[in-house]
Amino acid sequence: MTDWLDRGAPHVWRPYCQMKTAPTPLPVARTDGARIILEDGRELVDGIASWWTACHGYNHPHIAKAVSDQLARAPHVMFGGLAHAPAYDLARRLAALLPGDLDHVFFAESGSVSVEIAMKMAIQFWINRGVSGRSKFVSFLGGYHGDTLATMTICDPEEGMHSLFSGVMPSQHVVALPRDRDSEAALDALLAEKGYEIAALIVEPRIQGAGGMLIHDDEVLRRLRVLADRHEVLLIFDEIFTGFGRTGDLFACQGAGVTPDIITLSKALTGGTLPLSAAVASRRIFQAFWSDDAGAALMHGPTYMANPLACAAAGASLDLFEAGDWKADVARIELALRRGLEPCRGAAGVVDVRTLGAIGVVEFEAAVDSGGLCQQFAELGCWIRPMGKVVYLTPPFVTTDAELAQLTGVIRKVLGAADSQG
Ligand SMILES: *Cc1c(COP(=O)(O)O)cnc(C)c1O
Repeated sequence: MTDWLDRGAPHVWRPYCQMKTAPTPLPVARTDGARIILEDGRELVDGIASWWTACHGYNHPHIAKAVSDQLARAPHVMFGGLAHAPAYDLARRLAALLPGDLDHVFFAESGSVSVEIAMKMAIQFWINRGVSGRSKFVSFLGGYHGDTLATMTICDPEEGMHSLFSGVMPSQHVVALPRDRDSEAALDALLAEKGYEIAALIVEPRIQGAGGMLIHDDEVLRRLRVLADRHEVLLIFDEIFTGFGRTGDLFACQGAGVTPDIITLSKALTGGTLPLSAAVASRRIFQAFWSDDAGAALMHGPTYMANPLACAAAGASLDLFEAGDWKADVARIELALRRGLEPCRGAAGVVDVRTLGAIGVVEFEAAVDSGGLCQQFAELGCWIRPMGKVVYLTPPFVTTDAELAQLTGVIRKVLGAADSQG
């Protein structure tokens, strides 16, 4: 039945993986709701929503129908010189949902590429405005913005997974988030001294995801807006993880009441159905490219940009957000994660337990054996893949209370935490 696994394994290069020593990946037959069904018939409750994408659960009939209808009409056309309703409708709807005048949507296919595009937009914004020398970025310790070469330079250089590549690309200013007066003053001083070479600040608002699920207050974001304005640098929010409800607001920026100059979106944009991303710019940014000079245009255009199937999936996902159940579900999940994970605080090696929206985190003092833990969770019927020092849950919003209890229960069990919740 899994003949394909053995035959293909010598040819597939797996992600983030020392393939020589890693366990064999689990062969998936199909998905349904919050569940992954394996080839041997076992069902795993998915605690990760496939890297935070499947916010409405798998195989949602409304998204599936939108994609299959579009498949029959036109699976793909190039976006250069041609237009189609799925992309134009989606751009209009995203602009309406995003705060402020974040109105100008550039589509791509992956999160990293949308961050690269946001970086290009920021650098060219200054060039088009006749300001030279602003080509660097300020990003933050604990941050993660992608795996491509330029995005690696703005990830945390030590905690991140890209330290081997230090020195390969020009370095950026990766500094502490302005969580308190000292770090705020340090960032203020850096911008005063080096602002002339800085195009933009870039941050994951509210929670730094892949860098360790590190949460900060909305006040930090308000400080960043003030500092960016004071020193006339742009502010980019990378909402590839936080966008589409994960932190309890549709977008973290909107919940925090801070509007960036550019925002990047991906992951849950299509409800986990197809790859799609967007860099969305404010009117001021867009205006710098709007010119009689052809040379002022943004020279970018991924081949599969604005793929109609992906845009149709994203449109259907927005329908589900507009229907509105997600907000109550995220609140319900937050409560269940808090109650279910809190007892882990006493477990060996655990230094913190925290939740934010539909994100629950158990942090250890040192990196955990991700592969080993993952295997133990799977044996108990859950798909949970720890990362660095954290065991975390980011379940689909449709996960039932019983499934949430199962997810938190297996974490407590494997970590040896007290099982009573009373
Ligand atoms: C996942 C992620 C990315 C990279 O997205 P890919 O689609 O994997 O390229 C960038 N930024 C953040 C905040 C992410 O969570």
